[in-house]
Amino acid sequence: AAKTSGDTCRRHTAELDDTADEQARLGAELRTALDTGQFRMVYQPIVELPHGRLRAVEALVRWDHPERGLISPDRFIPAAEHNGLIIELGEWILRTACAQAVEWQADWGPRAPERTSVNVSARQLAQPGFAALVERVLDETGMPVGRLTVEVTETAVFGGGQALQTLNDLHDLGVRIALDDFGTGHSSLGLLQTVPVDVLKVDKSFVDNITMAGRHAVIATALIRVSEGLGLTAVAEGVETAEQAAELYRLGYQLAQGYHFGRPVAEPDFAAEVVVATP
Ligand code: C2E
Ligand code: CA
Ligand code: CA
Ligand code: CA
Repeated sequence: AAKTSGDTCRRHTAELDDTADEQARLGAELRTALDTGQFRMVYQPIVELPHGRLRAVEALVRWDHPERGLISPDRFIPAAEHNGLIIELGEWILRTACAQAVEWQADWGPRAPERTSVNVSARQLAQPGFAALVERVLDETGMPVGRLTVEVTETAVFGGGQALQTLNDLHDLGVRIALDDFGTGHSSLGLLQTVPVDVLKVDKSFVDNITMAGRHAVIATALIRVSEGLGLTAVAEGVETAEQAAELYRLGYQLAQGYHFGRPVAEPDFAAEVVVATP
């Protein structure tokens, strides 16, 4: 059974039984969680190599459960997708992240992150009204469209249909589109021919062993060349060491994200630790 007193996502992820039963239980509690405000946003810096200057942030959701403590999105996003509450949760996430970006802009001016990335799930993209919703939220929060990046996984886009239509509509609005966990899907390169992409987020798995000559380094090199050739922006994900950052920079990567540069943190820690502290 799940323990209820742990304090970190990692611990909970390890302790909770990864069963359909657990998913169902979390899913059933999502409604209450939304109604009683149990979700929080944390923000992770996306920085410029090699010096680490703050350029953008990725907004990541957390569930601050009254008994279980912090629950990782890897555990509840699938449940929210399954029961459809991701639509409502996703709107809250988008609104909260945009409102935060506008506040930083007001407080920090040019020192504020230029762009905010928000993760959008397959089910949201499949909603015919999603692009209109984004437009409304930008309007209501005062967020300039050019400052928003939407991160989608390859699987969410694969299959085309409404998801592709939504991405085209968002792109026409001026929202930037990032392909998340790039390189891990079934048709990564194929998608670049059909999806209006601006940013490739090169998956952590290619960064992990990049300092050892081998497959990872070869793939990371190929991906930066593809990105450059297509005029896209590449972001290396999951950078944990100075050695990885140096090697990525040597390969031509200009942007990176990972624990080496900063973990995801909530406000007001983000302003205090990241905005003030980065060069
Ligand atoms: P993702 O979009 O690929 O987000 C990156 C994940 O990697 C985050 O986990 C982040 O905390 C973690 N990470 C960042 N740097 C490092 C590093 O250097 N080392 C390691 N080991 N991990 C690092 P998180 O916040 O637990 O989110 C997990 C996944 O849940 C996300 O993967 C995303 O797919 C989903 N997710 C998170 N927030 C949202 C959201 O607001 N909406 C939706 N639809 N999905 C979300
Ligand atoms: Ca992401
Ligand atoms: Ca990712
Ligand atoms: Ca991921």
